[in-house]
Amino acid sequence: MTERLYYEDPSLFAFEAEVMDLVTVGNSVGVILNRTAFYPEGGGQPGDRGTVGKAKVHDTTLSPEGEIIHWVEAGSQVPDIGTSIVGKVNEIRRRDHCQQHSAQHLLSQAFARLFGWETVSFHLGSATSTIDLDVAEAEWDELLRAENLANSVVFNNEPCQTTIYHRKEDLPISLRLAGNADDGLPVATTLRVVSFGDYDATLCGGTHVSASGEIGLVKILSTEKSRGSLRLHFAAGERAASQFERYRSVLSELCKLHTTGRADIIDAAERTLVDNRRMHREIRRLRSELGALHADHLKHEAIALPGGVRLVVASVEGDASYLQHLVSKVGDDAIVLLAGTEGGNAHFVFCCPQELDLDCAGLLRTCLDPYGGGGGGSSCRAQGGGISAEKAPTVLRRAEEEVTKGLR
Ligand SMILES: [Zn+2]
Repeated sequence: MTERLYYEDPSLFAFEAEVMDLVTVGNSVGVILNRTAFYPEGGGQPGDRGTVGKAKVHDTTLSPEGEIIHWVEAGSQVPDIGTSIVGKVNEIRRRDHCQQHSAQHLLSQAFARLFGWETVSFHLGSATSTIDLDVAEAEWDELLRAENLANSVVFNNEPCQTTIYHRKEDLPISLRLAGNADDGLPVATTLRVVSFGDYDATLCGGTHVSASGEIGLVKILSTEKSRGSLRLHFAAGERAASQFERYRSVLSELCKLHTTGRADIIDAAERTLVDNRRMHREIRRLRSELGALHADHLKHEAIALPGGVRLVVASVEGDASYLQHLVSKVGDDAIVLLAGTEGGNAHFVFCCPQELDLDCAGLLRTCLDPYGGGGGGSSCRAQGGGISAEKAPTVLRRAEEEVTKGLR
């Protein structure tokens, strides 16, 4: 079983070791060493990256037998079994993981202490990390209280201690046993307790900071419901700082868009929304008035066909809903062939009085088919489109010809 150097010293990033074995799964080669400072994926914390000898390690995992496998990148120079190598853990990534994982301990204890909410699971993600709590929902004030408590422990710079126990009965009674109690524990005979001063003690196999001050800052970012529990996203250390910068930049852009300062941004956004709603109402009213006038004009321009039937043919600027509005205003006692053009596209509404022997849906399809357009409806009302605006006059001409031919 690989000796875990990170158990004793999580700030050890370079070490010497002997290559014990190589494993191959598909195209991937894994290196097993007699000792390692690489953390293998487990307990919500991703595996470390770095180098073993000249080979680049892209992931580290734990085998069921307790061996730590360093998966090397394809094309890497794999060290031979029996040779000595120098292993180097990617320091920046590891420090970040230590900050996030330690912040999880502080937050989990805060929720347990303040509200009796236990941590069901933890996941250290690439952008934010999550804690699932055994509670359905929480007020933001409650989250903030837990965050403040966690940060007060950060500011107190409590030492982080690791103690190994071999018998369950020796474990301290104040242990927080929830959530990731089993994470990273290789065998039942090695029980690793990670504590932050008197604030928190829990079973954990992960890597942590040496004192809580290294976490820098803990910030809860958002929550979501997740299968009966409450999932909260948080960031610590440099991640918290970069999240802060992201929010600052969003706020700054919003202020620029509203040409106002930060103190007035909410009022300005509310004013914009109210103005928008008012303008939409005004547009609806004007459209309705315009539609009525437009329809009067179209009725006036109607062509009289044999048998006293009137025909309205027109191409107008407007979307599908404006066309429908126009048709309703023209009335149902005329044959109406309307094209609406908007943004380079054309749509059509054809309708006729029910008593006429005219199939509007068939007519629409006949006229649009040659141009790849389509539509549907009934014999007395049909609508369609899917062709460019410049084809609209040709389609209308064809439709008019078909109608006059049919009624002759
Ligand atoms: Zn942990």
